[in-house]
Amino acid sequence: AGKLYLVGTPIGNLEDMTFRAIKTLQSCDIIAAEDTRQTRKLLTHFEITPSMLFSYHEHNKSASGPELIRYIIEGKNLALVSDAGLPAISDPGSDLVRLAIEAGITVIPIPGPNAALSALIVSGLPTERFTFGGFLPREKKDIRKVLESFNESNGTLLFYESPHRIRKTLMHLEEILGDRSIVLARELTKRHEEFVRGNLQECIEWLEQHPPLGEYCLLVEGIREEERKAEREAWWQVLSLEEHVA
Ligand code: SAM
Repeated sequence: AGKLYLVGTPIGNLEDMTFRAIKTLQSCDIIAAEDTRQTRKLLTHFEITPSMLFSYHEHNKSASGPELIRYIIEGKNLALVSDAGLPAISDPGSDLVRLAIEAGITVIPIPGPNAALSALIVSGLPTERFTFGGFLPREKKDIRKVLESFNESNGTLLFYESPHRIRKTLMHLEEILGDRSIVLARELTKRHEEFVRGNLQECIEWLEQHPPLGEYCLLVEGIREEERKAEREAWWQVLSLEEHVA
């Protein structure tokens, strides 16, 4: 059987393409891409001529996944790319990986850029522990549910967000979490790369002055030590009150 390669591609700056990514895309028999038009541009830039370019996205993955697996079993090497960054991170890929593993196929990562982690390492927020939440839901009550599923051990929270939703999302976050520190990382690796660091209120105001354009990662400070302490104290109070009542 052939192998399945998950190939990271640039998140804006084409110079972030790795030698190994180019070599892998050149040598694989099939390239499966989320958007073949987008990928064709990348391939043209690096003068890669694919023998076969296959479309694999959210809406055809249940049918095209098994087909791709059959090709690999027949001996073809397959490279999976998404439009930007790492496949399978808020992008198609994980289902194909599971199918491949079930079929006993070797899966090989070809590491490359990732928006959330690139934002995290320069955010100034704690990096020892973090939680990647992908795209938040639109409605406040659903955002609340997601945030409630996190707890104090989750560390810095990492999200992706679209420019036309970012302001509304920050307003919901402020209502739910209070005014905590966040970092907006915009247009990473591109000409207009920009980092806005501040608390939620400041960043909402900043967005009023600077209408959101381009791609954004949103990083939110995890539960602070003082909040944790306050929570613990409240808990002890409840316990001692219960003792008292008993
Ligand atoms: N697979 C990608 C990765 O590894 O980063 C993420 C794909 S997800 C569909 C696209 C989202 O990632 C965008 O809406 C944006 O939130 C974030 N993103 C992608 N490229 C970015 C960039 N250059 N700067 C900031 N955020 C980016």
